[in-house]
Amino acid sequence: MGRPAIVIKQKWEIYTMKKVMKMAVLLGIVLLQACYPAAKNCVVKEEPDKKSMDLWNFTGMNWSLWNRNTREQILSDSEMEKRADYLKGLGVNTVFINGLHFRLSFLDRNKRTLEQLKRVTAICHARGMKVIEHLDLTIPLYLGTSDMLKHPEWLQIDARYGSTVARWYCFNNPDFQKWSINYLKDLLRKTDVDGFSLDEVGYSISRIKEEIFCGCGYCRKKLKEDTRVLLSENSNSLFWNNYDDSAWRRYVKWRITSKRDYMIKVSDELRKIRPDIFFTGYNTNFANVYARDHGGCMWEDSKVPNMFTGIEIWVRLSTTASFPFIMADLKLRSAIADHWNRPSWIIVTPEDDETFIFTWAMTRMAKQRPWINKTLIPEGQMKKCLAAPPFMNDENCRILTDIGVLFSTQARDAYKDSSAHGFPVTGWLEFLIMNNIQADALMDDDLNPEILSKYRLLILPNSSALSEKQIAALISFIEKGGSVICSLETGGLNENGESRGSNLFLNHYGLKNIKMNKGGIKLFPSPWYDEKDFSVTLNDRFAVPEIDGKDFKVLAELESQGKRYPGIMIKKIGKGNLLYSGVELGNLYFMNEILKGGKIPVWHGEKYAPFLMKILTTAYDGRFLSAPVKVPDGLIYYIYKDSSNGSLIIQTLNTAGRKNLFQGDGPLKEKITYPANGGMVVDILYPGSARPSATVVQADGNGRTVECKRLDSEYIRLDVPGEILKTYSIIRIDKGE
Ligand SMILES: [Zn+2]
Repeated sequence: MGRPAIVIKQKWEIYTMKKVMKMAVLLGIVLLQACYPAAKNCVVKEEPDKKSMDLWNFTGMNWSLWNRNTREQILSDSEMEKRADYLKGLGVNTVFINGLHFRLSFLDRNKRTLEQLKRVTAICHARGMKVIEHLDLTIPLYLGTSDMLKHPEWLQIDARYGSTVARWYCFNNPDFQKWSINYLKDLLRKTDVDGFSLDEVGYSISRIKEEIFCGCGYCRKKLKEDTRVLLSENSNSLFWNNYDDSAWRRYVKWRITSKRDYMIKVSDELRKIRPDIFFTGYNTNFANVYARDHGGCMWEDSKVPNMFTGIEIWVRLSTTASFPFIMADLKLRSAIADHWNRPSWIIVTPEDDETFIFTWAMTRMAKQRPWINKTLIPEGQMKKCLAAPPFMNDENCRILTDIGVLFSTQARDAYKDSSAHGFPVTGWLEFLIMNNIQADALMDDDLNPEILSKYRLLILPNSSALSEKQIAALISFIEKGGSVICSLETGGLNENGESRGSNLFLNHYGLKNIKMNKGGIKLFPSPWYDEKDFSVTLNDRFAVPEIDGKDFKVLAELESQGKRYPGIMIKKIGKGNLLYSGVELGNLYFMNEILKGGKIPVWHGEKYAPFLMKILTTAYDGRFLSAPVKVPDGLIYYIYKDSSNGSLIIQTLNTAGRKNLFQGDGPLKEKITYPANGGMVVDILYPGSARPSATVVQADGNGRTVECKRLDSEYIRLDVPGEILKTYSIIRIDKGE
């Protein structure tokens, strides 16, 4: 007779659960209302919806030519069907509709545009392909004439001089918001597209004088509501561009978050019509000024629901000449993608078969999904790559490493020179990639005990702005045996870029009163690093700490204006090390000319690689999870571990034949050299007694089995003959007997 009682209890439970759910929903709505529309310091906590996005298998390509086209080259139904069949046949599953890009200039033909888009979408949907409408929502003055500058009152206004340039409408203007969201809703209802690629949602960047956008009445009001900062009315005020002023820094951060807020509104509104609608947002480089002054911070953008972030910069760079920089940049993008367990996309602009394989390989190695910026793919390798099945389940795969490099948006936004953190981060990543030391990039939010427990060494290049919580996580990480390489002002500021008076992190370990100095610096060889003729000439910024206690060992001294200072020092803490450098190390390797606008990078890698390796191995002080024993010149590899089955997947890229480009000034002349010059021998952590087998697979599908030798109970040795390592190869190591 106990049964009815249970039923009653269950009913009660269901009832209360419903009630709790209802209350939770109501509470959620109240909380959401508190956050919107002004998003008053609202921290977006919910994870962007990845279920509805299903983008892991995304392969995108252009329907027709680039932005300036009329959309009328492919007009009849039969032409459209032919085009869709062609794309489908290539293995493309997402189509980008380009043309009439600066939409505000072409509103007179909107009806025709949407009718055509509706037809294309129906034809692509019938073939199981998704459609992304690619348009610019904010630029009123471009090609075309009819609707140019219908609303001059929507234009962004220079906050400093009150003037405007006919460039971008302000997305904080409620009338523009209403118009733009209604335009997209109408487009979505009439055409049923699956996604939007909305360009140039950002703040105009000064091209004439020191203009700062936007200072319209709506921006000033929202800024005040969100941050309590009053934007100066005085063009000569010391406020402008003053990174020592916390109000200015809050304004800079607000530009980034306000752009995110607008995109959240767009996403919320469009998801009411199609919950699975997605946005392919893009950023250029997120270590440089565009990320900040343009408001295009990939990290903040990634918090927009259904946002699929990526990069367009490859359009402008030669991938074959700039690959170290691009690969480092992709590591940063993987950091965000891995944080949310989502992919990100990248534009691939193939020049010919060989560069396509090379570019494709970089894309695959970094778990990026490609948007192929092309309308036709010739027969040959390019087509074979597109048709090749994926060799790795990206969603389950993570780099086999215990080394992390922090890219901190907090540090990027703390200084006037946004590269003071970004450049050395990119330099460190390039060094690690080019020397086949497996590493992850990490974001600010990754500095928590759970994520840090995966790592043995963290590299914090001038990671100046850290919260108390992040510092506590770092201290706990070191207590548990972790090591840290850090430099300059790491930990000197709080998360908002404000000085705490003393350096909370470094003080904890006995480095005090860190003073920044200027002047030419040289670093000298020492017993620790006694390479003959070694003398590094560095830039003119260095830090000098007072060393409290005898635990610190000075490894190398630096000299400036005839005076010597402790340059690089280390302290042993339990099982780990704290290595501090008063000079910036990552810059040694970095070819930052490319970020200053240069096309051909200047690379210092060969000269400084042994020195950086010495720094790395001194701090790491142990056996890497994987170690290159003998690697052919120019061969780069990434080792992934698949968490679903324990397999290892090694992707290799042969960059030989390009090295001379670093010093050159002409276009790419050298062709890719393959096969690799010599065999590849790598020791990899693979505990147990199993002797796994390895299969080498080429992009064209030819495979060959190679042997793995067991070294000891911890490591196996993979030995791959050079002649089978082509431009791009994949080696799978599966569980053996
Ligand atoms: Zn504005």
